This record gives sequence, C-alpha cells and structure tokens, in this order.
Amino acid sequence: MEDVRKLAIIGSGPAGLTATIYAARANLSPIVLAGIEFGGQLMTTTKVENYPGFIEGIDGPELMNNMMEQAKRFGAEIVYEFVRSTDFSKKPFVLKTDSNEYLAESVIVATGSTPRRLGIESEQRFWGKGVSTCATCDGAFYKDKIVAVIGGGDSAMEESTFLTKFASKVYIIHRRDEFKASKVMQERALNNEKINIVWSSEVVEVVGDTFVTGLKLKDTNTGEESELSVDGMFLAIGHEPMTEPFVGQMELDPRKYIVTEDGVHTSVDGVFVAGDVADHVYQQAITAAGMGCKAAIMVEKYLAG
Ligand code: NDP
Repeated sequence: MEDVRKLAIIGSGPAGLTATIYAARANLSPIVLAGIEFGGQLMTTTKVENYPGFIEGIDGPELMNNMMEQAKRFGAEIVYEFVRSTDFSKKPFVLKTDSNEYLAESVIVATGSTPRRLGIESEQRFWGKGVSTCATCDGAFYKDKIVAVIGGGDSAMEESTFLTKFASKVYIIHRRDEFKASKVMQERALNNEKINIVWSSEVVEVVGDTFVTGLKLKDTNTGEESELSVDGMFLAIGHEPMTEPFVGQMELDPRKYIVTEDGVHTSVDGVFVAGDVADHVYQQAITAAGMGCKAAIMVEKYLAG
C-alpha cells in the first residue's frame, strides 16, 4: 500500500518550521521537505534584532537551528530534498523531488522567496567572481576593497552597513533619489562614513577580466553613462517567490506569488500556504512564523473534516 502522509510541509524557513512545530504537537506526524539546505534566508543574515523574545537579538542561523531542534523534539520527520514538481489535481497530492515521490492528504507550501537579479548578461558572467547576493556569506573576501551594494530597501542598508566591517569603501547605488528603506536603517547607513551613495543610477554592465573591476552606470534622469571602479557588487534588490514547482497547479498572481484570500488557503482545497511565497508586503520572519502557525491550525481543521 502506498505511504500517504497526513501532512507534507515544503520549506524550512520560519514559516515551514513554525507550521511543523504546531502540526507535530497536534499529532499530524508531518513530513518536512526541507530543501537541500534548511533554514531559508535567515541562514545568511547576521543579527536579527526584531524577533520578539531575544533582548539583545539573535543570529539568524542560531534562530533557525533552534526552530529545527524544536520541530524535531516533537517528532517531525525532516527530509533534505528539494521539491521539483507537484500534482495537486487529485488526492492524495503528489510531491516529486530528485530522488523520491511523496504522497500527502494535505500540504503546506512555505518555500519562501529568492534574491532578485538584475538580469543583465555580465551579472551572470561574474557570478561568484565579484557578484553576490549575500554579504554575510562573501563579505569577508573584500577586506580593504571597494564594493557596491545595489538597492534602496532595508536589505541594501543592512548589507552595506555590514560590509563596512571589511571593505574600505561601500557605494550604495540606487535607481531613485530617495530610499525605500525604513528611517532607522537609512540613518545607520547615511551616518556611516565608509558609505557613499550614488543616487539615480542603475547598473548597465559589470566590467572586469576574470573578476569584477568596475560597473558601468547609467543616470536614470539624464541617461548619461559613467564607470565606477569596484572590486565587488552585492545585489539587494528584493526577492522573487519560489513557486516554480507549483506553476499550473494552483493560482499564482502576475508576479508569481501564491494567491490566497485570507493569507492561508490557496486555490486548491487541502493545500495551504505560509510565509514569503504568498507575501510581498511584510516579508518578516515573525509574520512568516505567524502564517505558519495559522496554516497548521487550518490543516488540523481540514483533516478533521
Ligand atoms: P525591497 O523590495 O524592500 O527593496 C528593493 C529595493 O531594490 C528597492 O529600493 C528597489 O527600488 C530596488 N530594486 C528593485 N528592483 C531593482 C532593479 N531591477 N534594479 C535596481 N534596483 C531595484 O527589498 P528588501 O530586500 O530590501 O526588503 C524586503 C523586506 O525585508 C522588506 O519588508 C524589508 O523591510 C525587510 N527587511 C527587514 C530588515 C530588518 O528589519 N532588519 C532587513 C532587511 C530586509 P525602488 O525603491 O525604486 O522600488
């Protein structure tokens, strides 16, 4: 007989692991398809200062390790596989990874989002050779070097401030003449004497030989082009939802976020959602965790009929 799980949870960030803790405590014996590496985006952040309960803040990876251990304590089964495709057209639902196929009566999708790229050819050519989306992972390679951070949101402020620990100079290149970031994060960056702002500019080309040596910029008002010497470029231009395995299986909006009426139910009865994959507004660890909790409670009601 086929092994049909009561609940499969796809993703192991704050949304997926909170859903797991709730579902495991409710005796739903969830299986978590955690991805090849667990933990989501907090695994590549430094201190998280706004997750309630930690007076001095907590490092992102430590927070995620704690959530994982908590989930395991209640008996959740964790599988380190990446879901490639799904079939939600019939029950039980089918989830396919590279090596296995899983069947489940209900599913919580908590796959999160992934850093957006500029989409220019030279960005791809220099990927890992001076182009990165993760200052915490790669910042230490830029000791006494000059780097650029692209973007004007909280991530750009956070990454650029972090990079001043290593780099001699950090440019923030933003396409408009004002930041989107919160005031407190902006001020932290603006008051840092190692940070220089390049307003109203976008990157049209990454320049270099084997490694990045500069950026070709275009003024977004005048169209005038210029070149800036840098040793590295960090992208902090937002995120895109990880919905590739669900295309054609459930309703997605034009930006490919999962459509929900109430933040938890999807267009497929029995498939629920939590976290950034359905949220382009809040995108916080705590809101993702909250959505994970709600999704698990809804699954419990759904399975109880
Ligand atoms: P955001 O979507 O908030 O900001 C993206 C920035 O990148 C914007 O300034 C945008 O420009 C710019 N941008 C987008 N696309 C392009 C492009 N193709 N070329 C050039 N620039 C581009 O993303 P973030 O990752 O900064 O933040 C996401 C969420 O995470 C937010 O809710 C934020 O508050 C939160 N966050 C919170 C932190 C904290 O509190 N410690 C730390 C980091 C993130 P424009 O302004 O013109 O739209």
